[in-house]
Order: sequence, then structure tokens, then C-alpha cells
Amino acid sequence: MKRIFGIALAAVIGLSCGPASGQDFVLGPLKVAKGDMRSGMLPVPERDGIGTSIPVTVINGANRGPVLALVAGVHGYEYPPILASYRLKTAVNPKTLSGTVIIVHIANLPSFQKRTVYYNPSDGKNLNRVFPGDPQGTLSQRIAHVLTKEVVDRCDVLVDMHCGDGNEALIPYSYWMLSDDKALDARTHDLALAFGLRHIIIDGTRTKDPADSKYLGNTALLRGKAAITTEAGLLGRIDEESIVRNVEGALSVLRHLRMLTGRPLAPADPVWIDKYEVVNSATDGLFTAKAGMGDMVTEGQIVGVVEDYAGDVREEVRAPFAGILLYIIGTPPTSKGEPLFEVGRIKK
Ligand SMILES: [Zn+2]
Repeated sequence: MKRIFGIALAAVIGLSCGPASGQDFVLGPLKVAKGDMRSGMLPVPERDGIGTSIPVTVINGANRGPVLALVAGVHGYEYPPILASYRLKTAVNPKTLSGTVIIVHIANLPSFQKRTVYYNPSDGKNLNRVFPGDPQGTLSQRIAHVLTKEVVDRCDVLVDMHCGDGNEALIPYSYWMLSDDKALDARTHDLALAFGLRHIIIDGTRTKDPADSKYLGNTALLRGKAAITTEAGLLGRIDEESIVRNVEGALSVLRHLRMLTGRPLAPADPVWIDKYEVVNSATDGLFTAKAGMGDMVTEGQIVGVVEDYAGDVREEVRAPFAGILLYIIGTPPTSKGEPLFEVGRIKK
């Protein structure tokens, strides 16, 4: 990927510093002195005998600065962000860090343990649809509640790090989610560039209701925090390129926020996407792709077909408009209402 230096840093100057920066930072059972790093488990309380915990690391910088949350594993089969999150423990030195980094290594541990795509095996819910969560709810809702209270409410900036799920062939891209606050949008615009992925979706589709924010990144945004969602990696793979892309993206964000010295990286030729649509399957069956991730498709083009369990074609699935295939299902199973592919229209 071609990159150039030079994101304007002016937009980060307005960042507030977290109240605990420059002092002990307490997160669940972890008490982390400034200039130190600690890893541990954030408990998610049991209900009906079912609970879990969330592996986290706090890197509390010796110098004052913002609180950045890097969250991986909201979907437990999305490995490159998870593996990158562990590499960041050796890539960031608390002695030279300004501010505090909260790393959530595997937000959805039950999904990771059972190797499930999309859904938590305990309650069948997609964690990234149940924010801000509910302390009295099912396990996914309780995980979301802990993340909202302990991570979102504690940070100034949040990066929700995803990739193609275990069944999704995906090109790297970020969501720049728009808010009703132009100043916040300017900050998140620069944050999206700083993560370094070339394709960036300008996303005005997210709900504006803080009580039903659904997505982790949107939850942070609706609470006034700068937040982006990133996608880098695919198909349950652990390819080095995708892992490094996530590590570099996170480190570039740290430089952008002036938590580390050095210049952030940004794509030389960002591609802005001003409209996108996830096309879902109308029926259960077997999906066969007729186009590949990153392909340019025309309006009405057949992107894939769904066959029923007898092997008969039930549906020819077409592109709703011309654009780039951001991801497409790369394995046969498809279920009614679940995603088949996502098309993005490139901004002119
Ligand atoms: Zn995901």
C-alpha cells in the first residue's frame, strides 16, 4: 500500500486528557502505575450461572495524554486484529508513552473459544448489534455493558478493530461514521486516515439513539468520543500482512494522537465511499460467488447465486448499484437474512 506522511495534527489538539492520565489507571482488577503495563481479565458478571471475562491490557504512559481504547475481537473469529493487539504489548513502551492505551484483546471470548462467526454461542446474539448493552440481559448484552462502562466511558478515542469474519473475503477498509457534531466529525475523519487503510466509507447510516447505539464504535461516537471502525483481514486467516496492517494502523493512530513520537501514516490516495449496502440472502442454502472481493461491479450484475439444498438455483443475487465489492462470502453456507456481500459506491 502506498503511503505518504502528513495528516494535519491540528484536529487532535482539542483532545481532552482522561482524568487518570499521568496517575494510576484503574480498570477492573488492574491498577496500573504510570510508566507501567498490566494485563488481566475484566469480569462480566454471571447470570443464571453464565458469565465470562474479557482479556485486557492497560499501558499507562509515563507522560500525560489522552486515553485511547483499541478493541479487538468483538467478533471472535476475526483473528488479525486480535493477534495485532497482543503484538502491541511489545511495540508500545509505557516509559515513552503519553497518555493511556486500553487494549481489549478479545472482546467476545465465548465466540473466540467456540470459534463462531457473527454470534455469541451462549445467546445467539451479534455483540456488535446489542450496544450499549444491559447488565440484566443475556451474555452478549452484559459483555456490551461492561465494554460501555469500563472502556467507552473511560476513553477519549476508540478504534473498533474488525476484519472479514471467518466466512468473509474482504478488502481492507475503515468506516468513518458521521455524527451530528462537525468538530467531532473532523477528528474522526483524520482518525480514519491515520489508521492508514486506503478505502474509507463515509457512513451516515448509524442510529443516533444512545440508548440503542447497536455498534461499539457508534456507542463511543454518541457519547462524544472520537471513534472509527476498521476492517483488515479475512476468512479466519492469520496472514502476516493483515496482522502487520493492524499493528501499523494502531501505532499510526498513537502517533496521530501524539501519544508516541513520529509521524502518522496515511494512504497516498484514499478512496472515499459515499454509499454502501450489505446485500442479504433471501433464503437458506449454498452460496457461490460470481465475483471477487475488490472487483468493480455494475448495477444489476450477478454477484453470486444461492442454491437450495437440492442443488437448484433459487436466487441470482445482483449488485444494487455500481461500485466496489468490499466483501463477499467466501464459504458455502448462507442463511436467510444473513450477509452475502457489501457494495460501496466510490465518491466522484
Ligand atoms: Zn467484525
